[in-house]
Amino acid sequence: MLANTVLHEPVSQLRGVGAALSEKLGKLGIVRVADLLFHLPLRYQDRTRIYSIASLRPEQEALVEGEIEATEVINRGRTMLLCHIHDGTGLLTLRFFHFSTAQKYSLAKGVRIRCFGEVRQAGFKLEMAHPEYQLLNTNDTPPLENTLTPTYPSTEGLQQRTLRRLITLALEHADELPELLPPSALRQHQFPALRECLQLLHNPQGGKLDNGRLGGISTRLIFEELLAHQLGVQQARLAIQQVQAPAMLEENHFWQALRHALPFAPTAAQTRVISEITHDLQQPIPMNRLVQGDVGSGKTLVAVAAALHAIANGFQVALMAPTELLAEQHYQNLQRWLEPLGVETVFISGGQTARQRRRKVENLLLGIGHIAVGTHALFQNSVEFLQLGLIIIDEQHRFGVHQRFALREKGKQGEHYPHQLVMTATPIPRTLAMTAYGDMDYSVIDELPPGRTPITTVALSNERRDEVIERIAAASREGRQVYWVCTLIEESEVLQCEAAEKTAELLRERLPHIQVGLVHGRLHGSEKERIMREFKQGELQLLVATTVIEVGVDVPNASLMVIENAERMGLAQLHQLRGRVGRGKVASSCVLLYQAPLGKTARKRLDAMRTTTDGFVIADIDLELRGSGEVLGTRQTGDVRLKIASLVRDQHWLPAVQTAARDIVANYPERLEALTERWLQRVGEDTATRFFQS
Ligand code: ADP
Ligand code: MG
Repeated sequence: MLANTVLHEPVSQLRGVGAALSEKLGKLGIVRVADLLFHLPLRYQDRTRIYSIASLRPEQEALVEGEIEATEVINRGRTMLLCHIHDGTGLLTLRFFHFSTAQKYSLAKGVRIRCFGEVRQAGFKLEMAHPEYQLLNTNDTPPLENTLTPTYPSTEGLQQRTLRRLITLALEHADELPELLPPSALRQHQFPALRECLQLLHNPQGGKLDNGRLGGISTRLIFEELLAHQLGVQQARLAIQQVQAPAMLEENHFWQALRHALPFAPTAAQTRVISEITHDLQQPIPMNRLVQGDVGSGKTLVAVAAALHAIANGFQVALMAPTELLAEQHYQNLQRWLEPLGVETVFISGGQTARQRRRKVENLLLGIGHIAVGTHALFQNSVEFLQLGLIIIDEQHRFGVHQRFALREKGKQGEHYPHQLVMTATPIPRTLAMTAYGDMDYSVIDELPPGRTPITTVALSNERRDEVIERIAAASREGRQVYWVCTLIEESEVLQCEAAEKTAELLRERLPHIQVGLVHGRLHGSEKERIMREFKQGELQLLVATTVIEVGVDVPNASLMVIENAERMGLAQLHQLRGRVGRGKVASSCVLLYQAPLGKTARKRLDAMRTTTDGFVIADIDLELRGSGEVLGTRQTGDVRLKIASLVRDQHWLPAVQTAARDIVANYPERLEALTERWLQRVGEDTATRFFQS
């Protein structure tokens, strides 16, 4: 539809866009000229007026003009430059952590300066850190902007100025954009024309529009994006239903046998989800189901029941875990449960030698091995199945969509695709899941096995570390085990490991009667497993760990968890970590150590952790605090990337969006591809794969 227009051409066709710039734009999903138009501002800066210093409030972004009263270099641990200005109404300090000598001399007493930045409260005074500024010539004052200045999402080395320039160029061609919303939706919601919306959003005229009014105009675009997303998800679902899978109609006699052998009865929720899965497996189209169950809800057993159904029907199963540790844990559980049934579990590990592996791989190819457990090592070309009928992916958020599809492809046999079951502990509110993962069916294990005592959570400041160490001693005297999780916000694994090593050393010193183990990401796989095994078997009382233990590890005797730097962690991750305790009959507790003073959001997060252990409540609070993008873990998976819409904030639009989607499919099918193409971010291939390849 966009063919033969400038908008359809690659951005490199624009003046001044070379290879380096193209690449940076590509990182933002801007590939063609049209993409620039849909790269919408995050917010606006008001440089249309000058604020008096007396009227400034903390956290406000403002343009200020004044005269320099003094400039000084001070040293408070690090050198910085302070420049004090006044405008007749008050004083403001400009603070620079990086500065040149020339800069220092140019900021001389008596010089007039105009600066733009965020106002901060520093003690009793107001200041701006690293404002943008220009020095003013007394008899020649530059004019003010007459429109609000958009601020765009950007990437390293790409300046706002460049983005603004390119978008202005693209706007000259906005007329060529076709209207893709169905006329009925345009009429009913009284949406303005697309071109008008884009012009206003990129270039709010007159400085009269405030952010609120602009919010109203962006509604049309939000609607369109939700529509594109909805259509994309629907297409993916249709595509899956068009291919065939083996209908597994035989009785699951293995499961009947296992259920009677288990020391506990499945919960009602487990039973319900198992029957939903069984129903899917009996269909001649591939199952594509997401099972969500809070930590400890017993997802493994559900996976096993599903696996046994496939095996009872003569098919093989692949069970994928995100880490070696979890794969090994699954392998041990499965072996314990399945060996008596005569079901053969095969463990495929990245750490195995070619010789060790050959036998296992052969067994799978011969059909002697029924269920293969492993990490992405299961992907390797040497691993082949005789009759793969079901793929189970545990703790889905660590796996990319792309990997999910690759695995499905791999399992394709003749015309048949394997069924797919995805399990996640990340609590996703139902409405959100139906939209975000609308291509999958969705089940929830909304009940924990009986007999669990709730976890008590406290937040303690770092000054009370001694008390915490005393609690560890007490717990181990009672024969209980303890986790101590070291976290660092720096993504550097090296630093994180070093911190964990130091902590382990310190705790060994302070707790000489206790066996302390240490696991972190830089340990060898086998070393990590050895230590985990020792902890599981109770030979170690205290396990110091980095966040490698975040998902899935199951040690029911562990009843105390200490999490360092809790104030810097996201709610979802805290909840996952905490889920490692409270798995046995004894009362468990979780200590969140933080560095005072707490910021507002951090306080809310810790409060949420103290007041509830319900994953869904936590997910809702998390959504409120962060907005939906992050909750779905998009950074890892690239699953749902919306540019301007928020599935939570904008969910009241969903019914109308669904109506419009039906309208498009029935009456304007030629717009379908144009819509998804317009709104789909081309960041990485994952997203495209999700919508088009399946
Ligand atoms: P998750 O959902 O976090 O993966 P797991 O599958 O690891 O949870 O199960 C947690 C623990 O609960 C395991 O020790 C498991 O054997 C046990 N379990 C699972 N289902 C039940 C049940 N219905 N009754 C009692 N214990 C159960
Ligand atoms: Mg699990």
